[in-house]
Amino acid sequence: MEEAHDLLEAQRRQALRRLASLSGDFHEVVAASRDSNADDEHDPEGATIAFERSQVTSLVQQVEKQLAEIEAAFDRLAAGTYGVCEHCAQPIPAARLQARPAARTCINCAQLGTT
Ligand SMILES: [Zn+2]
Repeated sequence: MEEAHDLLEAQRRQALRRLASLSGDFHEVVAASRDSNADDEHDPEGATIAFERSQVTSLVQQVEKQLAEIEAAFDRLAAGTYGVCEHCAQPIPAARLQARPAARTCINCAQLGTT
């Protein structure tokens, strides 16, 4: 599973870069809110900043979740259970693993919404 390892590694790098750029955005938004000395509750501009901040936060959470999935895939790789559907224990097709190296289930189970 050399290839899976490389794919996961590439995804992890990508996710970490994304996280770094998002936290850069986050600091900018926070700095902007500090500069304007805005009152989040009553100032319309403050409300926008609060909204942007929550947008960035939810993006960060998405990337963190993705990273956790990737880490879990590394664990399965180490345990020798990588590429096996967690739900039905059937092998996950290589094409799916190519597209989504951190996939935990086969396409059938994913479509059934068991993930
Ligand atoms: Zn399955």
